Amino acid sequence: MGDRHAKRRTAAHRETHRSARAGWLRAAVLGSDDAIVSTASLMIGVAAASATRGATLVAGLAGLVAGAMSMAVGEYVSVSSQRDAERADVDRERRELAAQPVAELAELAEIYRRRGLDVGLARQVAEQLSAHDRLGTHLRDELGIERGTMARPLQAAWISAAAFASFALVPIAGLLVAPETARLPAIAAVSLTALAALGALGGHLGGAPLVRAALRVTLGGGLAMAVTALIGRLLGVVMG
Ligand SMILES: [Zn+2]
Repeated sequence: MGDRHAKRRTAAHRETHRSARAGWLRAAVLGSDDAIVSTASLMIGVAAASATRGATLVAGLAGLVAGAMSMAVGEYVSVSSQRDAERADVDRERRELAAQPVAELAELAEIYRRRGLDVGLARQVAEQLSAHDRLGTHLRDELGIERGTMARPLQAAWISAAAFASFALVPIAGLLVAPETARLPAIAAVSLTALAALGALGGHLGGAPLVRAALRVTLGGGLAMAVTALIGRLLGVVMG
């Protein structure tokens, strides 16, 4: 009996961890799609305008740096504002707990009653959890904030920049291994293959059908590359 309880608790615990990691991984996979599509399109556009291998490489590296920087800034700004909102909530809750402890305890008990406990037990749970960690309990059960998992802007910034830079290397590698005459198809083929694999991985993590997920991101990426190839070719002709 006790054994079965322990086992169920372990399973529930593992489940939470897995879904938290899946969320993080899915965000990383989406950022990686971006890196591949934008860098590959940039390089293909430049190459289609009959640029040299060296100029195409420079375009790819510039795209890598620009994309990584813009991901870092974007993540930093968005996660910072999320963190500011969380901090404001924490400060306000702390003030309320100091100003009206009785009303706050009743509020907490009411939350547990609405979740299904009877009045007496709800009161008891509220009192014991408050004695253990009053602010933490209010933050978690009233506001849904876990103090251990609060937003970290710098970490979010460098992780997304590193993810972008790593996957921007895919089309660049395609250029480096390609024979002189097959630059465009090589960049496209390497990039689309990586996109298909990432799409399938993203579908797997999100519980979606693999083939459809892979096809969607591959078709989208292929379209982006085709459009920039066309524009690059036209510009190359116009500007000689
Ligand atoms: Zn409260």
